[in-house]
Amino acid sequence: MSDLSCTLLIIGGGPGGYICGIRAGQLGIDTIVVEQTSPGGTCLNVGCIPSKALIHAADEFHKIATVADSPLGITASAPKIDLAKTVAWKDSIVARLTGGVAGLLKKAKVRLVIGHAQIVDGKRVRITTPEGEQIIDTEHLVIATGSAPVELPFLPFGGPVISSTEALALEQIPQKLVVVGGGYIGLEIGTVFRKLGSDVTIVEAAHRILPQYDTALTKPVAKSLADLGVKVLTGTAAKGLGKTGLIVESEGKKTDLPADKILVTVGRRPRSDSANLTALDLTMDGPFIAIDDRCRTSMSGVFAIGDVTGEPMLAHRAMAQGEMVAEIIAGHNRSWDKACIPAVCFTDPEIVSCGLSLDEAKARGFEVTVASFPFAANGRAMTMESEAGFVRVVARKDNHLILGFQAVGVGTAELSASFATAIEMGARLEDVAAIIHAHPTQSEAIQEAALTGLGHALHI
Ligand code: FAD
Ligand code: NAD
Repeated sequence: MSDLSCTLLIIGGGPGGYICGIRAGQLGIDTIVVEQTSPGGTCLNVGCIPSKALIHAADEFHKIATVADSPLGITASAPKIDLAKTVAWKDSIVARLTGGVAGLLKKAKVRLVIGHAQIVDGKRVRITTPEGEQIIDTEHLVIATGSAPVELPFLPFGGPVISSTEALALEQIPQKLVVVGGGYIGLEIGTVFRKLGSDVTIVEAAHRILPQYDTALTKPVAKSLADLGVKVLTGTAAKGLGKTGLIVESEGKKTDLPADKILVTVGRRPRSDSANLTALDLTMDGPFIAIDDRCRTSMSGVFAIGDVTGEPMLAHRAMAQGEMVAEIIAGHNRSWDKACIPAVCFTDPEIVSCGLSLDEAKARGFEVTVASFPFAANGRAMTMESEAGFVRVVARKDNHLILGFQAVGVGTAELSASFATAIEMGARLEDVAAIIHAHPTQSEAIQEAALTGLGHALHI
């Protein structure tokens, strides 16, 4: 295989890497993206998109299965699901999107090389492909190698012990599923299988699920899990494989939980051991690659973006970093100046957080006004049988500058854009309160939360 050279070489074709590639191509930079599997990375292949596809399928199934219990006057015969077909449908969406990424890279005149990259030095990378080895010389290097599921040493992946990747490709619904970790992935996927009929137990070491969010936000999710019949064991640690399932320990007492599958979702680790990164001896920030506000590493000409650089490990953060780095390499004066990175947990109901929470605002020394508006007082939520939850705003007490929004409720993921827009535009409570929000929509709860903060809510 002949060797190649380019101006920019990106290792990893996930959301960070492929967006960096597309933008670099648009800016006329001679760019190569190297990806060892399929373009789109974790997000498109085994993460955001497949999980949301299965969440949708499970919601549809569950709706039909439980419609007779609702007051809507609808009856339906008991639904059946062929999970293999559902997974094939999910795979078709993944294929459309990953094919789309390859097409977008091509349109931007970016070369996509499928192979495993090993760094030789800051300007040279060795690629191993089924056809042989290839050396690529480059002026700039971007490391976008992403993250992988954390494996518990006493519960290695294999056999009944699976990660999110295998859980999103199961072709049969497990009768008994035990999920270790009540965080983002465990709750999203655990809820899917409960709605499809599995007997689901969630084992969480902390004293509540989603410990990074306050209890007001997690309470509707905990209630919904209880209503669905998901068993949640908090303050409980996984200990290892038992005779029939998982051995767990709580308050010094060990129990063997029967399980056909044990899904381990206890976080993700940066892939900073991939690509022979040690050759560069970069400054690290714990397990992550240390970066500055331009995503520059400690070595000149070497950038790092996405999950490999730390929390929050979210696709849209990786994409925004990728876009910025391409522009920096093109000579634009850019730095990381984002006021917030919205986070959405696609539980039932969804949780959204954007900007500062009350505790974070206080920790930064702000005196704050906090105001909430419940969906129970929102007409649209009533018409959707989705009255659980609220929108909450956190603003500075002195000048009413909005510092953060949080929400929990069915469909609140789509409110995240309004939250981020208000915060990025430097809106005050008065600005949001003065905007006409369409009626009847859940978004009226945003305006009403701002009005509540000003002391004159209209619908409560
Ligand atoms: P990745 O997407 O991990 O991509 C890195 C790529 O680099 C991979 O394709 C890998 O094959 C490649 N690579 C690594 N080493 C090499 C090498 N040596 N040579 C060649 N290629 C290499 N985030 C959200 O924002 N919203 C969600 O709803 C969401 N849901 C998720 C659900 C699940 C089940 C999971 C697991 C994750 C989810 N995430 C979600 C997180 C999201 O997937 C990641 O934050 C995002 O993919 C990070 O992008 P990245 O480009 O940094 O890395
Ligand atoms: P997480 O950090 O969200 O949750 C892990 C949970 O496991 C925590 O609650 C932790 O207390 C618990 N835990 C850790 N060790 C344990 C043990 N030994 N026994 C029992 N519980 C234990 O991690 P995740 O769910 O694996 O997700 C990883 C990351 O992927 C997220 O932090 C997020 O960045 C990303 N993600 C995002 C989305 C989204 O945006 N909707 C969805 C999925 C994943």
